[in-house]
Amino acid sequence: MTQERAEATRNTWLATLENFRRDPARPASADIWSPSLECASRDEIGAIQSEKLRAVVPFLYENSPFYRARFERLGQTPADYSSIEDLEKWPVVDKSEMMADVTNSPPWGGYTTVTDEIWSQRGWMLFSSSGSTGAPRPFRYTHVDRVQWAWANARGMHAMGFRKGESAFIMSGYGPHVFAWGVQVALETLDLPCIPGGGMDARARANVILRFKPTILVCTPSYALHLARVMQSIGYDPAETSVHTILIGGEPAMGIDATRKRIEGLWNARLVEFYGCTEVSPHVGGYSCLAAPKSGETVSTHVMEDIQIWETVDPDTRASQKPGERGLTVCTSLNSESSPQLRFLVGDYATFTQERCACGRTHARAIGSFAGRSDDLINLRGIKMYPTQIEEAVRAVPGIGDEYEIVLMRDTAGLDTMTIVCEHADHANGTVAQKISDEVRLRCEIRVDVTVNPLDTLPKTEFKAKRVRDMRGR
Ligand SMILES: [Zn+2]
Repeated sequence: MTQERAEATRNTWLATLENFRRDPARPASADIWSPSLECASRDEIGAIQSEKLRAVVPFLYENSPFYRARFERLGQTPADYSSIEDLEKWPVVDKSEMMADVTNSPPWGGYTTVTDEIWSQRGWMLFSSSGSTGAPRPFRYTHVDRVQWAWANARGMHAMGFRKGESAFIMSGYGPHVFAWGVQVALETLDLPCIPGGGMDARARANVILRFKPTILVCTPSYALHLARVMQSIGYDPAETSVHTILIGGEPAMGIDATRKRIEGLWNARLVEFYGCTEVSPHVGGYSCLAAPKSGETVSTHVMEDIQIWETVDPDTRASQKPGERGLTVCTSLNSESSPQLRFLVGDYATFTQERCACGRTHARAIGSFAGRSDDLINLRGIKMYPTQIEEAVRAVPGIGDEYEIVLMRDTAGLDTMTIVCEHADHANGTVAQKISDEVRLRCEIRVDVTVNPLDTLPKTEFKAKRVRDMRGR
């Protein structure tokens, strides 16, 4: 890698990015921020993606040791990628490869293109994966990223109906996690006021809502539930507050009808979501629009296709799939200086459609939103299921409490078992347990034990819910 080529490819990529950052400061129309991008024909979308791909591939090759080594291993060069049709040649990159990379070259790894020099010249903020399952994977975001991010997320939040007169309350710990910061920077582009809600407990946050009357809450779905209950416990009805929109991220609640309706009912508010992950930021991946599903239809979540290329792959073979086929999400990130990725396996189950949405946008949508990371897959005696399927089953039973746990154990005979622990006012009545067991059997074709406790006896979830307790092998 020579310094000249590294700089030249970066400059070409930056110029291409700027060329397509249309309507940078304000929306071009009342409903759609950038109609020339968001309502473009499928051919135009493909042409924009191909042009950005032709710029980002050489940039990666010349600036990322991880990607350079992968090209060499595959016997490929950037010239092999002239359009999006070529993407299939690139085997999907997964998290384990990145983890090995950062372990071999700590602390930054070679998967990003930000050097110490760039960080010192235009570094903005560090974001990081938690590192709970290995070395943390850090990403050094630059001010180029900040500007692109603010614009892209503002487009997403405009689609959600964020307009003048609104004010947002961000209930986050303000750690190095992308969700809250991504909303924060975009609020500035939207020119909307914000109350930062770090360092407060739920009671303090409830009081902020009652006193300062924000119209939008930004939090995880678990926290929206938790805070509603805390508010009720101090004698207020969350449905009577100023809040009418809740922007969620971090957990797959949007596509779980019963959970979405529970949160919307408690707050008398509309749920909208951002979907994404640290690796393919700085950018909203998926976002809700205002086209409410007709009765009986499922929700859908858009992806922003002029900025990222989203596809699904077969969970076993990782072969590319067509729209309409259910598989694991993979993202090619075209707009990121800190983390431009080629076919990164984000790994949530989704089914994309390219049909034009009722809102007028032509960008693809995940029908039923995104259903949980493949890493979360529960394997019980060879039967595979997602915690979201169990959640649907539990919430299908009327009167069930907010909290529940999935406990996996290995009995003395070495057999793996699952027990669902939940709450219900009628806990002594065996029919509740039977109903839940039937609902699980219906969805997952597996028999489970169910323990029903009185309401408000399980530990309360605050931020991200940890629903699965796997005690096997302990
Ligand atoms: Zn739409």
